[in-house]
Amino acid sequence: MSSPYCIVQVALQTPSHSGVGDLLSYASERPLAPGTLVRVPLGTRELLGVVWDADQATGELPDGATLRPIAGVLDGLAPLDLPWRRLVAFAARYYQRALGEVALAALPPQLRDLRPEQLARRLRRPAKAVGDTIDAIENIALSTEQESARARIASEKGPFLLFGSTGSGKTEVYLRCVQEMLEADATAQALVMVPEINLTPQLEERFVGRFAPRFGAGAVVSLHSGMTNPQRLKSWLAAHSGSARIVLGTRMAVFASLPGLQLIVVDEEHDPSYKQQEGARYSARDLAIWRGREQGAKVLLGSATPSLESWYASRPPTPEDPEGGRYMRLHMPSRIGSGIAAGALPRVRRVDMNQQPRRTVFSAPLLQAITERVARGEQSMILLNRRGYAPVLHCVDCGWKSDCPHCSAHQVFHKADRTLRCHHCGYTVRVPRHCPSCGSPDIHPMGRGTEQLQEQLGALLRNVQRPDGAPARIARIDADTTKAKGALQAQLAQVHSGEVDVLVGTQMIAKGHDFRRITLVAAVQPDGALFSSDFRAPERLFALLMQAAGRAGRDAAYMAAQGTQCEMWVQSFHPRHAVFEALRTHDYEAFAAQQLKEREEAAMPPFSYQALVRADARTQEVAQGFLSAATAAAHAAGLPGLEVVTLFPPVPLTIQRVANVERAQMLMESSSRAALQRFLAAWQPVLQATRSQPEHKGLIRWLVDVDPLAI
Ligand code: ADP
Ligand code: ZN
Ligand code: ZN
Repeated sequence: MSSPYCIVQVALQTPSHSGVGDLLSYASERPLAPGTLVRVPLGTRELLGVVWDADQATGELPDGATLRPIAGVLDGLAPLDLPWRRLVAFAARYYQRALGEVALAALPPQLRDLRPEQLARRLRRPAKAVGDTIDAIENIALSTEQESARARIASEKGPFLLFGSTGSGKTEVYLRCVQEMLEADATAQALVMVPEINLTPQLEERFVGRFAPRFGAGAVVSLHSGMTNPQRLKSWLAAHSGSARIVLGTRMAVFASLPGLQLIVVDEEHDPSYKQQEGARYSARDLAIWRGREQGAKVLLGSATPSLESWYASRPPTPEDPEGGRYMRLHMPSRIGSGIAAGALPRVRRVDMNQQPRRTVFSAPLLQAITERVARGEQSMILLNRRGYAPVLHCVDCGWKSDCPHCSAHQVFHKADRTLRCHHCGYTVRVPRHCPSCGSPDIHPMGRGTEQLQEQLGALLRNVQRPDGAPARIARIDADTTKAKGALQAQLAQVHSGEVDVLVGTQMIAKGHDFRRITLVAAVQPDGALFSSDFRAPERLFALLMQAAGRAGRDAAYMAAQGTQCEMWVQSFHPRHAVFEALRTHDYEAFAAQQLKEREEAAMPPFSYQALVRADARTQEVAQGFLSAATAAAHAAGLPGLEVVTLFPPVPLTIQRVANVERAQMLMESSSRAALQRFLAAWQPVLQATRSQPEHKGLIRWLVDVDPLAI
């Protein structure tokens, strides 16, 4: 007996590198449109899948065929549209992952667990009453620079790079562009992405405040990993159905289903958190550009310190380079309110630490400046990119150091709870009273972290009073103080309310927060990044310092009333370094020009394209052996693209061992992105075959990172 069936190809999450193809075939009693969500059996389990191919000409299922039937169709949901499927397929291909993995990771987790009837019940739930839209809110008048940016975004195609100083009013431009786009077309949707850390309630409030009155209470939804699964599902469904007009989210939001998508904004586009660091290691910024082009949506990247990639891509045409870059650069150099001195960028003060007594943490002039501000009731912000009390504990007598037994890294000393903690694998022990190696009681912290900085500052400012006579209050914000849910918000609120006089923290505090009363920002120990082996380290340091500087003097009216000049302090042993020179003049363009010149001479990105293969194994030998064998196999097979792709030899990672796993990587570089892609695609099966050879048994995993951010 044979019966009529449709054969459908379904994308589902199968174990990675399992050898199971990207798509599995199932039988369906009726034709299913591509993009339909279905539940299908796999082994003994039932999984969520997405119907992918339209190859479903009704056929007679041959007798004895083993095609398993679809278990259920999530009927209530419109199929995922072609642009969404194309985006997922591209991301999977480009970042060298299985299609099903990327497709399923792009869907809200809760969708995986809902049976069709459960979903139907959820969809029947009445949506929150949509408030009456009013149009009473007046738009604030844009500055000349904002207006000219807005006009060009409205009239030209893009993609755009909005290069605007911190406080130049970029967010206001985003808001206005979104508004115009949505007012012009009742089905239009906008996607606004922000870096992880930047998604403060403040920004959400600003969007909701602006758009809920215009487009209804449910018009703005968020999508980020801080939400519960039911919240995420709700936002996702609202975006998918078109009832949400604006999706505000972190990198994951680039995969939101947005049938009416017409505008994508990527705020702080240079931020490394747009790059996913596990699974498919996608860049949400780069995918935004791709998606915008494919789906006919405008893309607007914004930053005060653009990534050198975006900066280069937006270079204006010149006689030697009549084409110029693919992006359109829009410049907003002035801070809002800069007519008065208060809106100006902070004055940069460099302290030469060679001239300071040894072991100085806060140089005398910096301490003086902080003291004066506390006394005037102004706030200061101190940056140190290292949490804990001290990065290592050490024995004076025998030289013992608090090394993590599982990693090639030190355990960090945390004083508050008297622990030594490894920041790589989490291994934690109580602080020993005596040296574990020689028994000496003479063990001391070396170097300093934010915890120690807060303590030292407390001692230094103990006699300093606020205008109300109370002692100076010093708060700290870093990953340790913000572990509890809601803790970051609560601590930020304290800063905003003026309860805190000096805020100490890691880069977490440098980004995006709209502190109103900060008039001094200091980086006390930024030198580490100057001599890093990572070629992007200066770029990141510069962006961080510029962004930190931008935290000062954001409230022009407040600054004018105070009559204070805001300041950015840098303490360095290399105060004349190009990074600090450029910072002094707030000259991103000079810095970028100098960095690009170096990159061009060294043929590094954006003048070349890179990918990494990483191997994790029980021993370094096995990890590197696998990479070497796969390289040899690539050469032996004469894989396509190889003629223009350079394969570098395998090397251990900077932190070679984490949680007893040895890690190695090798770099690939090419002047041609297409050639690198061709090569990687051809190499994938070779890597898989190499892995299954017996001599690589100790290999735990391998992965590919395309356009890696850290080498
Ligand atoms: P950016 O995103 O570039 O850092 P924002 O958009 O947050 O800058 O603007 C900085 C501050 O200036 C905010 O407090 C904002 O409300 C205010 N602002 C922005 N544009 C204008 C404008 N055209 N007129 C008055 N204030 C403005
Ligand atoms: Zn000792
Ligand atoms: Zn460890």
